[in-house]
Amino acid sequence: VIRVGVNGYGVIGRRVASAVRLQEDMELVGVAKKTPDYKARLAAQRGIRVYAADGESVERFSRVGLEVAGLLEDLIRSVDIVVDATPEEVGVKNKPLYVKASKKAVFQGGEAPDVADASFVAQCNFLEAAGKQSLRVVSCNTTALCRILHSLDQAYGVRRARVVLARRAADPEETKKGPIDSVVLDPVEIPSHHAEDVRTVLPNINITTMALKVPTTHMHLHSLIISLKSHASASSVRDTLEQTPRIVMVSAADGFRSTSHLVDFAREMGRPRNDLYENIVWQDSIRAEDGEVCFFMAVHQEAIVVPENIDAIRALSGRFTAGESMLRTNRSLGILK
Ligand code: NAD
Repeated sequence: VIRVGVNGYGVIGRRVASAVRLQEDMELVGVAKKTPDYKARLAAQRGIRVYAADGESVERFSRVGLEVAGLLEDLIRSVDIVVDATPEEVGVKNKPLYVKASKKAVFQGGEAPDVADASFVAQCNFLEAAGKQSLRVVSCNTTALCRILHSLDQAYGVRRARVVLARRAADPEETKKGPIDSVVLDPVEIPSHHAEDVRTVLPNINITTMALKVPTTHMHLHSLIISLKSHASASSVRDTLEQTPRIVMVSAADGFRSTSHLVDFAREMGRPRNDLYENIVWQDSIRAEDGEVCFFMAVHQEAIVVPENIDAIRALSGRFTAGESMLRTNRSLGILK
């Protein structure tokens, strides 16, 4: 059993902690948190050991009568692998703690690529990641793009990808972010950072990305235009994507016309926290012409990296193949195929 600790219990940390608890080959030793809020109380009620991120936090927890199991350092000592899910650029500051304790670590996409030995997307580079000391699970948008581009590159060869990303402006609980009434060029310069980030996992992909922030909280929506090296019809692209793990097709005929319908779908399925771990591609949007394929895809930013974090833990352990790990992860999370 791989003993896992999660440092940071926000959007990503909470989901990864829940997912770790579903794995037969993993034990969630505990989570580290700075603030004694409702999330900490619920974690304790669910039998999760909560550790204080630092000395100041210990006092804050004790003031509101919440008992902690110890300090972050105690948690690190008791685990085999730490998943760092603290806010962007905080992970790199925590890294010396993991190195000092000789513990393997999984970092998130908000960190610079050099925080870890490799950037990771399970179906693209599990084998190269196996047995390393640290991995960085790339961001939500990058994870989704890598799944798609790796699949199409293997099947047809990708000559060039151009992608416009309409990004959710904030996560549902982020009350201080915006815009409320604007479409923000994010950034104005092209390409956005996503193109370079994709190449941290797929170094040979020729890609340009343009990003916008739109006033919504629940999903990103990508418009993709991809030139292929060999001929592909719309139906063969659909078949290829349909056979690719963690990519799911929906259609307008079934009532899917917006990201709102996808959120509603996740709720109807009874997914925890309405989470969609899969890339969602509109099959009726797929169009192939003159060696170019176009389609729309939605990405649930809060959930898509959760299976990658679980597979990153197994890759670091060095005891699994990509196929074995992904199968276990997919089954435990009920990933659609
Ligand atoms: P978050 O703000 O929701 O959660 C961060 C957690 O870390 C909170 O529990 C916070 O209290 C705790 N924390 C804050 N400062 C800390 C510190 N100094 N030390 C320890 N803990 C601290 O953040 P998030 O959205 O879960 O993002 C975490 C990472 O995941 C970032 O790298 C981010 O870029 C990446 N990511 C986020 C999303 C998303 O949509 N939110 C998607 C993919 C990847």
